[in-house]
Amino acid sequence: MPDHTHDQANLHSATQVLTRGYDPALSLGSARPAVFRSSTYVFPSPEAAERAFAVASGRSRRADGENIDLIYARLNHPNAEILEDQLVPLEAGARAAAVFNSGMAAIMTALTTFAGPGDKLVYTVPLYGGTQHLIHEFLEPFGIQGVPVHAGYTQELDDAIHAAQPRIVFIETPANPTIRMTDIRRAVATARSLSKPALVFIDNTFLGPAFQHPLNLGVDLCLYSATKYLSGFSDMLAGAALAADPELITRMKARRVIFGNILPPDECWLLDSRLSLVNLRMNRSSKSAQRIAETLQHHPKVRRVYYPSLFTDPDQIRIRDAQCDFPGGLLSLDLAGGKPAAFDFLRHITIGRNAVSLGGVETLVCHPKTTTHSPLSPAELETAGVTDGLVRISVGVEDWRDLLADFQQALDKL
Ligand SMILES: *Cc1c(COP(=O)(O)O)cnc(C)c1O
Repeated sequence: MPDHTHDQANLHSATQVLTRGYDPALSLGSARPAVFRSSTYVFPSPEAAERAFAVASGRSRRADGENIDLIYARLNHPNAEILEDQLVPLEAGARAAAVFNSGMAAIMTALTTFAGPGDKLVYTVPLYGGTQHLIHEFLEPFGIQGVPVHAGYTQELDDAIHAAQPRIVFIETPANPTIRMTDIRRAVATARSLSKPALVFIDNTFLGPAFQHPLNLGVDLCLYSATKYLSGFSDMLAGAALAADPELITRMKARRVIFGNILPPDECWLLDSRLSLVNLRMNRSSKSAQRIAETLQHHPKVRRVYYPSLFTDPDQIRIRDAQCDFPGGLLSLDLAGGKPAAFDFLRHITIGRNAVSLGGVETLVCHPKTTTHSPLSPAELETAGVTDGLVRISVGVEDWRDLLADFQQALDKL
């Protein structure tokens, strides 16, 4: 889509997200983009069709300013182009984006585009459950060897990268549900120092795009479950990949055509309407979560609160200060009474809802040990810090005073 405004590069991201990517003249003047649901596109001439296929297949390059016709919606469609253009300014350092029909689709496409049989993959644990299953049930049988390292242990990550000489280093930070952070800049430096440098990918779902900017720290690919904060209303599934090097995104889009996992037009339209509010929503959640976390740490029924502003480990504080602007909307409480206390807490809360997932405008609370982290072995639960009494809270945009009072009355009843 052509830019209809002046030089976009001089505008701040909160402005660009509303001015880039969409030209009303291409939607009969409609202030919001039309939804282009067509599966196939009509060519103005056979020559235009021939040219579109030559460019799409990579046999020829698009000339500067040349208008290439759309072909078929699994390859590309206007709503994906608009959304991708609008995502770029939200991620500091990004120059290109690709959208997928879920966060898992983005992660799966990223890992299988850049690694193949015989390659190694170093990854932090605990990892999102779906990503963990992807590695064990698909990538390892496919011939990609996974090498787990504990999130937040810098020396262990360095040693694993040197020993494994991986193709990809995959980091999820902060780790779920104990908010333990991994040093992004250090991982990049170590990956780059190899004789055959590894690519560094990050799952930035928890603190991005508002509070953590991995591309500016040298990360190659930033991945999202857009199902969470980017869309923000717990009403759709989507995924995204962003990079400073557009070539990486071009390669992923070529795979996306084969896998058929592009985000469909209606979902693109819905997601791009949410982007201008991501930073407002995330800032509100973070401020509320911080007030709640810092108050509940003193409650007698709470053994420990996991939250970035409450870190005590000097190395975790160093990493937090180096890579996070604000602490974010997720916190975990370790309750003194173990599983019965955690379950009763879930039963007694009246505003937050007992559900997995995160990043929505509504507050969600879950018990990781019996749900999201239930497949883990006792040893894995132990290293991940997932205890019987742990509940994870994704703070929404309700008034923090109501949420705090609700959590306090639920705790008082334990
Ligand atoms: C939810 C989530 C995913 C998976 O995303 P889907 O959109 O559900 O496919 C991946 N990583 C993290 C950190 C998540 O929270």
